Amino acid sequence: MSQTVRVALNRPLRRLFDYSAPDDLELILGQRVRIPFGPRSATGLVVDIGVTPPEGITLKPVTSVAEPWPALPAETVKLLSWASSYYQHPLGECLFMALPPALRKGRPAELKDRDKWWAANEPASADDLPGKAHKQQALLRLLKDATQAVPWNQLRQQGFTLKQVQALADKSLISEVEPPGMETPAATGSAATPTLTLTAAQQRAADALPERKGFSASLLYGITGSGKTELYLHYLKRELHENGQALVLVPEINLTPQTVARFRKYFGDRIVVWHSALNDSQRLETWLRVRNGEPVILIGTRSAVLLPFTALQAIVVDEEHDSSYKQGEGFRYSARDLAVFRARENQCPVILGTATPSLETLQNAAAGKYLKVDLTERVGEARPPNLRLLDIRSRPLTGGLSRPAMEDIRATLEANQQVLVYINRRGFAPVLMCFDCGHIAECPHCDTHLTYHRRDRALRCHHCNYQQPAFTRCPKCSGEACKPVGQGTEQTEEILTASFPEVPVLRIDRDSTQRKGSIQTILKQVNSGAPCILVGTQMVAKGHDFPNVTLVVVVNADGGLFSVDFRAPEQMVQTLLQVSGRAGRGAKPGQVLIQTCHSDHPLLTTIARGDYLSIARQLLAERERNGLPPFRSMAVIRAEAPTMEAALAFLDQVRKDLPDSKLEIWGPLPATLARKADRHRAQLVLQSSNRGSLNRILAQLCAHVDQQRLSPGLRWLVDVDPLET
Ligand code: ADP
Ligand code: ZN
Repeated sequence: MSQTVRVALNRPLRRLFDYSAPDDLELILGQRVRIPFGPRSATGLVVDIGVTPPEGITLKPVTSVAEPWPALPAETVKLLSWASSYYQHPLGECLFMALPPALRKGRPAELKDRDKWWAANEPASADDLPGKAHKQQALLRLLKDATQAVPWNQLRQQGFTLKQVQALADKSLISEVEPPGMETPAATGSAATPTLTLTAAQQRAADALPERKGFSASLLYGITGSGKTELYLHYLKRELHENGQALVLVPEINLTPQTVARFRKYFGDRIVVWHSALNDSQRLETWLRVRNGEPVILIGTRSAVLLPFTALQAIVVDEEHDSSYKQGEGFRYSARDLAVFRARENQCPVILGTATPSLETLQNAAAGKYLKVDLTERVGEARPPNLRLLDIRSRPLTGGLSRPAMEDIRATLEANQQVLVYINRRGFAPVLMCFDCGHIAECPHCDTHLTYHRRDRALRCHHCNYQQPAFTRCPKCSGEACKPVGQGTEQTEEILTASFPEVPVLRIDRDSTQRKGSIQTILKQVNSGAPCILVGTQMVAKGHDFPNVTLVVVVNADGGLFSVDFRAPEQMVQTLLQVSGRAGRGAKPGQVLIQTCHSDHPLLTTIARGDYLSIARQLLAERERNGLPPFRSMAVIRAEAPTMEAALAFLDQVRKDLPDSKLEIWGPLPATLARKADRHRAQLVLQSSNRGSLNRILAQLCAHVDQQRLSPGLRWLVDVDPLET
């Protein structure tokens, strides 16, 4: 009798499919197979072999295998199976997330259509090639001199062959992947030297970090500018075997090409990158190198944690508190938490580095699960910045900026230094209002107002991307007194450009960085060190190392003070301290001016002392008193439907069907943004002090709801360890 195999498909179905395996096919766990599916065929992944099929059913046979080896090694299958049951997401969709797009679509696992080529950054040169390889030398020289990627067509026209291209690619001298950081000038100061000697403080931290013997998880609590990146480099150099693989997770790659450049200085072409801007063939190339067990150090964003490493020896999660590690849709995993799981599976160390640890991680350290390693001095002469609160309740503001802020900016520029102005909203103003009748432009599809973008004369919804021309005459009363209210980056940029015409004002937000390469141009200007003003959203706070920024101005710090979301204060404190950490990273001392309407708020006065750990302890105590995460486990059932009644009715039923247990249940209630893109959203929050029992209840709930017929247009999902409530 032929064997039976169980196959997972890339579909949002919480079920697997059984097939029979033809005798001539040797099937392996994790292998890609072609199977008949309904009237068509589909690509699937083998998740179980030798299962007993239900009696009396004749199974269809597997058609063929995509390749003789398993696309996903057993370790990766185990990781994603665990994640699938922890996050209650269909196994098939979880597993397919570990494949590059080309393989998800059923394409062969080989590179072809090589189209564009770059010379690798370092360190080989044409002189290292054998003397006889003239054509290869010429090709390498051509690519090294090129300022951008050269299309294969063009190379062919110049008489080069695919074989020559392949030969250089095999030696990692050229690649299809753009070497990040290529356009960045050598970082200022000593950063460009390949082997910096660790400072005494760094050395103490390095000594405290565990060796690569078995599993360990460490929280590297290193204040901003303390040299965490340098420490990661030394640590990997020390612990990573020459055949080993390492994973370095970062929140953002494109914004901080310097980081990748620093890694390349140490590890050359062993560095590969993984992020959303790669195209399908770049992804396939990197995926194959990882899957083939090449000794790569992969620097990547969230989904890099799902790649099929086969020789993982160390994991670093930089800025572990960053909310981008949690996927916000579909398979809602936390890359940080999966990194820890993976380290345990691979019996290797994981380092969670940050200046502002998440409360979850701090609690794990307090409970002795993670080792806490401190790095509390800045590198060299740099000192922690001086933070000041400025109450703006009765002060006149232009472009959101008070007179003292403007004076500080002027003084900083006159001293030939740089300024960073942080403001948490893009666009010109969050509201356009008629001062005759009070009418406010609102999104017709969402419960929110439209943001005014003056440059494009447009009103835009930041939730659904709806857009309409801005009005000068009120659509309701025809009055002509329509004015923007509140602050956005565009407005602050405009005021600063008018007030300081002699220096460049550079805006960094999602609008200004959309064009490819624009962020590199901006970073280049900042890295030149010449006086300038940077205006931006969270994007300016993330990981940058600008040694000549000595003043940071926070336009308004009050966003998180009175939010209903229990995580808001934590996130506000983290953002404020991260953005403050951009000041005074070089030899010159840094100043931070925080504008607020609540200068006596205890949270802000503690921030002004720059003491993150004592704020975090207060916030943790509050969470414990209120029985919130990390002291209890939380999950949110989210539902959206064409009407709020339908969404709430569904969740009401879910609530009724929950077993009698020690769950704490809130809701159902409309979500904070109750209507988004014409969908009405509601949520039911579940909390339990027993993670395992919450997980079992959720699994039962999913199985139960999957059996039901839902009202038309209703969609629902489970969000485990949610970041938003
Ligand atoms: P963090 O990631 O902790 O904010 P970085 O790793 O970016 O800090 O380091 C801050 C600055 O200090 C960088 O410019 C880096 O090149 C420099 N630096 C770090 N370690 C050393 C060292 N041991 N000697 C000299 N400069 C260093
Ligand atoms: Zn909208």
